Amino acid sequence: MKDFFDELDKELTWEEWTEEIQEEIEEEIQNNVEAKKSEVEEKKEIEIALQENREYRPRTISNFPETKFYLPTLREGYTRVIPIGWNNETGSKNMNLFQYWDDLVIVDCGVQFAEPDMLGANYSIPDISSLIQYKDKIKWILITHAHLDHIGALKHILPPLWMPTIFATKLTIWIIKKWLEEARLLSYATFVEVSWDSTEKVKIGNHFTAEFFRVNHSIPDCVWILLETPGWARIVHTWDFKIDFTPAIDKPADLSRIWEIGRRWITLLLSDSTGSIRKGFSKSEKDIGESLEKIIANHTKWRLIIATFSSWISRVQQLINICDKHGKQIFVSGRSMVENIAIAKELGYLKMKPGAIKKMSPKVIEEVALHNQVIVTTWSQWEEFSALTRMSEWKHNSLEIIKWDTIIFSSSVVPGNERSVYGVINKLLALWANVITKDDQDVHTWGHAFQEEQKIMLNLVNPKYFLPVYGDLYFRSLHKNTAVSIGFPEENVLLQENWSIIDLAPNQTVFKSRIKMPIQDIIIDGNGIGTANSHVIKAREKMMDSWVLVIIYKVDTKTKEIIGNIKIESRWLVYLDEVKLVHKMVFKKAKDVYENTVWDVPDIEEKDLVKIIKTDLEALLLQKIERQPMIIPIILYV
Ligand SMILES: [Zn+2]
Repeated sequence: MKDFFDELDKELTWEEWTEEIQEEIEEEIQNNVEAKKSEVEEKKEIEIALQENREYRPRTISNFPETKFYLPTLREGYTRVIPIGWNNETGSKNMNLFQYWDDLVIVDCGVQFAEPDMLGANYSIPDISSLIQYKDKIKWILITHAHLDHIGALKHILPPLWMPTIFATKLTIWIIKKWLEEARLLSYATFVEVSWDSTEKVKIGNHFTAEFFRVNHSIPDCVWILLETPGWARIVHTWDFKIDFTPAIDKPADLSRIWEIGRRWITLLLSDSTGSIRKGFSKSEKDIGESLEKIIANHTKWRLIIATFSSWISRVQQLINICDKHGKQIFVSGRSMVENIAIAKELGYLKMKPGAIKKMSPKVIEEVALHNQVIVTTWSQWEEFSALTRMSEWKHNSLEIIKWDTIIFSSSVVPGNERSVYGVINKLLALWANVITKDDQDVHTWGHAFQEEQKIMLNLVNPKYFLPVYGDLYFRSLHKNTAVSIGFPEENVLLQENWSIIDLAPNQTVFKSRIKMPIQDIIIDGNGIGTANSHVIKAREKMMDSWVLVIIYKVDTKTKEIIGNIKIESRWLVYLDEVKLVHKMVFKKAKDVYENTVWDVPDIEEKDLVKIIKTDLEALLLQKIERQPMIIPIILYV
């Protein structure tokens, strides 16, 4: 104990200090979460599972914030649509909820990768706190495709919802399986494989039917969904799509099928707004292949390194074909790239001769002449340590970028990530490497529909109402303008925020509820399941604001009397000339509140005592100096 006090007496740097405090906060939050694990509730869950004659799936820690929000009653025959997460353009956490009677169906379940204002968090997930109470009614999740902004939150959301059954296409299921296996949830998960070339209506619960359709995007096996309910609601849900007549491995867009769907009187279309800002048509995947072929065929000196998204399987297929034709050897680098190629090859999506792709290792790569090496590497702008970044910093175990290497960015910059991408490009240029981006040559296309493709979708589906999705208000408003420009009635375009409630009546009218769910940013920090929520962000914000007050009591374990003086440490809370006065005031209050509380309730629990101290000091500081610091009382028993 003495050491501890000696340590405290030392002058800590600001970084050391915030780090210590942060650790304590995280520990405190973790303890609270653990405490919430109620045995009673778990027993109830086992009972219900027994009654429903299904296997009980163990509850994983769910630290979604508690909520008292209930969904308003849904009128008979009405179909409800609730956007849960996608109101942000950058790598959005896509998720929607549909309800008919007492069936609730979720479509997609994605993450949003961390932005600078998320202060050290890894990513955020949709806030489903108010859905947890309906877990016995949410038995189905439909997934459109295997991008992380559509599947990445499954591992956090499946357990508190009691592992609903996942409906998806073959490749999507396999990629989800890989993620759930890593999270040790695979043995609890159930899947139903659906096919886009089947016209069969898949029954979802008692009231929904779903049809799945083929759509072009930047990953194979992407589908859009037609959901129907007995309440005359026909909802077309495209999510990510583009229209490509010459894709590399999937089939061309099937416009006649979309037209056929449009003849069924569609009530509502939910459609991708990501490309709303771009005029014309997006480039075809085949055009990109032609540009890459020109570069690869004419490359006769040094190495060629191609950075692309690990899930862009069609791009990899094009590179395999080109390299085979021109006698080049492909080496792959980056874990997610290797894993996705392995899955796609296993399932027959990637076709190649034996040895066409080799995993990169220092020994294997030496055997091939430099100018015949084509190194395909992961370029995930969200992974801080993606293979290319490591190569540019000479931290990669088998490859360092050297003078005259050529690096092609066969990828786009996700809006908001420009600074970090240009940072990597600058590092490469400083090493005297050649850099080619999509701004120099056609080495990349978008996976999302541009304005003309959006018009085709709206025209063919011909819905009564239109809900632009996936994008912030700016992108969704542009999508609305595009719809209005082709004659779509402005009043039938719904610009909804996350967790707003839309009810579709059987007579094809729409009711927008005024009830708005209070939502929070749920962030994931670390590798565990749901290890942190927004309280951590708030705590960090406060630390960044630098108002911190720590009060340390040393007390006798038996008598609970304070031993010696209470220690007070503050950071940036008070100006130099007021330190003495404020500390004196805090000291007196801290002493009084501790002694009075312990006197009144001798067996008070420490957490309650700490809460009272915090509340009283908060009130004092707000009243006296009009500041609200983070207050951390620490009680040390000796
Ligand atoms: Zn996508």
